[in-house]
Amino acid sequence: MEVQFTEQIQQLQLGAGATFHGEGILAITKALLQSGVAYIGGYQGAPVSHLLDVMVQARPYVDTLGVHVEACSNEASAAAMLGASIHYPLRGAVTWKSIVGTNVAADALSNLASPGVVGGALIVVGEDYGEGASVIQERTHAYAMKSTLALFDPRPDLANMVHLVEHAFALSEASNMPAVMELRIRACHVRGSFVAKDNRAPRFSKRDLIAEPAAFDYMRLAHPPVTFRHEKLKLEQRLPAAQAYIAAHGLNEQRPGRFGDVGVVVQGGIAHTLLRALQLMGLADGFGASELPLLVLNVVYPLVPSEVGGFCAGKRAVLVLEEGYPEYIEKDLLLTLRRQDVQTRVHGKDLLPGAGEYTVEALLPALIAFVERLLPQVDLSAARAWLGANAARRADAAQATGPLPPRPPTFCIGCPERPVFSALKLAQAEVGPVHVAADIGCHAFATFEPFSSGHSILGYGMSLASRAGVSPMLQRRAIAVMGDGGFWHNGLLTGVQAALFNGDDAVLLIMKNGYTSATGTQDILNTPDDEAKAEAERNAAPHQSLAHKNQTIEATLSGLGVKWLRVVHTYEVSTMQRTLQEALTSPFTGLKVIVAEGECQLERQRRLKPWRAAMQQRGERVERVQYGVDEDVCSGDHACIRLSGCPTLTLKDNPDPLKVDPVATVIDGCVGCGLCGANAHAATLCPSFYRAEIVRHPGWHERLLAGVRARVVGWLQP
Ligand code: SF4
Ligand code: SF4
Repeated sequence: MEVQFTEQIQQLQLGAGATFHGEGILAITKALLQSGVAYIGGYQGAPVSHLLDVMVQARPYVDTLGVHVEACSNEASAAAMLGASIHYPLRGAVTWKSIVGTNVAADALSNLASPGVVGGALIVVGEDYGEGASVIQERTHAYAMKSTLALFDPRPDLANMVHLVEHAFALSEASNMPAVMELRIRACHVRGSFVAKDNRAPRFSKRDLIAEPAAFDYMRLAHPPVTFRHEKLKLEQRLPAAQAYIAAHGLNEQRPGRFGDVGVVVQGGIAHTLLRALQLMGLADGFGASELPLLVLNVVYPLVPSEVGGFCAGKRAVLVLEEGYPEYIEKDLLLTLRRQDVQTRVHGKDLLPGAGEYTVEALLPALIAFVERLLPQVDLSAARAWLGANAARRADAAQATGPLPPRPPTFCIGCPERPVFSALKLAQAEVGPVHVAADIGCHAFATFEPFSSGHSILGYGMSLASRAGVSPMLQRRAIAVMGDGGFWHNGLLTGVQAALFNGDDAVLLIMKNGYTSATGTQDILNTPDDEAKAEAERNAAPHQSLAHKNQTIEATLSGLGVKWLRVVHTYEVSTMQRTLQEALTSPFTGLKVIVAEGECQLERQRRLKPWRAAMQQRGERVERVQYGVDEDVCSGDHACIRLSGCPTLTLKDNPDPLKVDPVATVIDGCVGCGLCGANAHAATLCPSFYRAEIVRHPGWHERLLAGVRARVVGWLQP
């Protein structure tokens, strides 16, 4: 990836007493180093990508501590990496996006949790839940309960989060349970500060090697008969040890309040949202002091029965604030109180929305209902007025603007994947509509207008596998679309291997853009190496894609026995259309793979822009291509827009007073990818597109030529 994390890496090196300023996820990364972690791994995904991205670039520094950093091929390999802590006193941390990543890692997690760990094992998951989430709405909590993992949900204050990372390792060692820390999107991106400690070199590391492997110990395997013993150990020893640690170190926060006969139990991750809502009700100040007693659960699993019972006993009622469905904590708490014969009334999902993110606006009606019932003396008019004002503002805005058009996300300008879907649209016009098994990745933007392409998404790298039951039932061939990131994550084994083994009549389209683009353009096996990039820089005008410089995917497919393999540059729309039609109609009945080659434009522009700027500064010749529409020629049918979807290809008023339809126009931002020209040619559109080469610091012959041209044009158009 072309993004540099120089500043972040400096923050990681802060010593004792220095003040760290930055985002939550970077604070967690620093906390790992302060905790003496020996190895770090993971698979990137929002909102925790930053942890691994920074660590990978910080390798030269973390090497000095002896810490090993591994960019894992998927979440399962990251979870399996934690196996190091089963036998050895090594602290390890891995990271991924949940719930999807936890699903992929589930097998290894179960097999890790069963024997348990001696070195602290911590999984930092990005809990991608609520507004802004990009995956299915499920919770990591279920995994913690079923596999017996300690689950931290820290109040999103940087000092608190750092403190809890250190405790998570210690708790893991005290209880032999792996620990999980779930971080919501806001917790990852919240900015703040904390006083740093020195980073700790681990006792055993790459610089201080363990002399001998651990002795054979059947108890450390996840095999029957010892798995029966493991289950008992979880219940009889590990959970009580974790609960004792949580209570002894006060990991959950009990905050007293003026109204002592009621209380609120809240997940740490949404504690600040609660405090803001209480502030609006006049029940908290701006510094977090609440008039209602609070139990802030920084560790949401396991609950500590004595702590929960102690907080609730003697209260008339408590409200449990638990974001997401089902209400695991509320049920756990109800069971705990019932067993202790504590008769406090418990409210939760009976007052709160059952699902969705708990924003201040979502919490406030439930808090008002709770306080109204139990504390009728509290004046709630300010909170009601705030809610009413919000509703009025929304109504005013809706009336002022009318219904707004939806603005779904889309491919970047010049994305190499957009032309493939233009070609697929054209190919379907010839062969008829086909079933499209879609996948996770940038290409999933094709599910939006103007392509509306994709029938299902079953997981990352799962498209080819997901068409296995469909394609034998359809008269026309189905097509599976997958990115190169998905190919290496899962697609090679779950899709390609199975299709070859079963002799499936299948079509696979692989977007080979050279990076795992959707998660932040991380490098993969087929990323062009630095030498290839440097060569392009030396050539000074690197218009060509670099994707062809690395043919690992093609070699892998050929090695596995794929007989029908075509490599097509994505911007060659006509060739891509013909190749798709051939794949969909060919008499060859085995697996047919089209590798759509074109480097991720985001990465390409990140590389090109500084090169061009430097050349321009040196006074060297710099050429930039841009497309445009001749408004006198544009017929106004907008077929080009329906075929492209590029955000810089848009509409403007028709300058011809006799025509009512707006004309197409290319606005500033066009990166000159060439799709407009290729589409116009492939679909025989009106000839309104032109290609302009904008040259800075032209040579003398170019100036001369431009002068002659200007004269001739001037002569023709006096
Ligand atoms: S990040 Fe790259 S692959 Fe993804 S939409 Fe942008 S240009 Fe296309
Ligand atoms: S050439 Fe066309 S598709 Fe490509 S960036 Fe420019 S306007 Fe967009």
